[in-house]
Amino acid sequence: MAKILGIIGGGQLGMMIAEAAKKMPDEVSKIIVLDPTENCPAVKAGTDQIIADFKDKDAIIQLADKADIITYEIESGDSDVLKSVEDKTEVNPSPETLKIIQDKFLQKSFLSENKIRVSEFIQIEGIEDVKDGLKKFGFPALLKARRDAYDGRGNFKIDSEGDIQEAYDYFKGQPLLLERFVPFTMEVSVIAARNTHGQIKTFPLVENIHEKNILRETIAPARVPETVAKKAEEVAKKTMSVFRGAGVFGIEMFVTKDEELIINEIAPRVHNSGHHSLQSSTTSQFEQHLRAIMGLELGETELKHNTVMYNILGEPDYTGKYRLPEIAENGVYLKMYGKEVSKPLRKLGHANIVGENGESIEDILSRLQTLREKLSIQPSD
Ligand code: AMP
Repeated sequence: MAKILGIIGGGQLGMMIAEAAKKMPDEVSKIIVLDPTENCPAVKAGTDQIIADFKDKDAIIQLADKADIITYEIESGDSDVLKSVEDKTEVNPSPETLKIIQDKFLQKSFLSENKIRVSEFIQIEGIEDVKDGLKKFGFPALLKARRDAYDGRGNFKIDSEGDIQEAYDYFKGQPLLLERFVPFTMEVSVIAARNTHGQIKTFPLVENIHEKNILRETIAPARVPETVAKKAEEVAKKTMSVFRGAGVFGIEMFVTKDEELIINEIAPRVHNSGHHSLQSSTTSQFEQHLRAIMGLELGETELKHNTVMYNILGEPDYTGKYRLPEIAENGVYLKMYGKEVSKPLRKLGHANIVGENGESIEDILSRLQTLREKLSIQPSD
């Protein structure tokens, strides 16, 4: 029988999960999202909504009473409350996994204990720990918030002695960790899925280009030797084998100059770097997530076409209503998230530029070059 799905978070990821669910009416009869923003993107895709904070205990319990399965599109849910509702509803990925991943210090400790490589790190309890850590790691190093950090906002790069106080004060007493800087040659990620029966599949390795700490472009597949892609797949599969629970995970890694892979961080949810799959693959990451948590056979993950995903971000100096970009061009798929107001660097949509005629990545990137202007956000009158 079709199930009622509850999602913690109703942003664009929840919206695209809801759109995938509409194509699976035998599996999902209804979706309810829990999100503090009235009329959030997922609601525009036809979901019901409980308007409350992601950590609101009563709201999570209310969601559990209504839903057959709870999942999340954001890591901010209260993992202890989610654990406590497991007797009345399935929660996937498991709240234990969420609890580990939510806290970057626990996440990196867990990965290291399981012999999965991460950058060296230490827990910070005072500014003296930062100074001690810097003696060990040298400059630059990254001071990071342990929790609730999105799109690089939880990071401060310390380049010299003179930055220490400012970096420490920036976090206003939040729990922190200090991490050795990785001089990477490329940032990559693997979207991996495990279903409730333990079947694991990975999408091909992709390359991620960030601007101001925010993902700007994903290039699928990553321009790396086959050996690196294979190694990344193995790291991703090992990672999936140590975390409990079903669902899609986004596994971000650094490639070093020796072609080694170091995990940066893991998201226990569908991931921005998997949006290309909406057009490039037979199964999108959103459908894959639903298949995983519903216990269905996982879908095919091969790339049908080279694809570049370009994030449409709010202009850095503008807040307000905006005109929707318009593009009518073969092989360009525009997806806007229905957000009413543009804010600096806010993710408002994305475009997939798809090499449907067998174009190379370089050709797609030069096509994107000519599209950038059209894809920029302009104020509306
Ligand atoms: P995060 O929010 O931790 O994923 O970091 C955001 C971005 O900061 C990453 O995508 C990297 O570009 C950069 N970054 C984070 N950690 C490190 C590190 N240890 N060494 C070098 N760059 C890093």
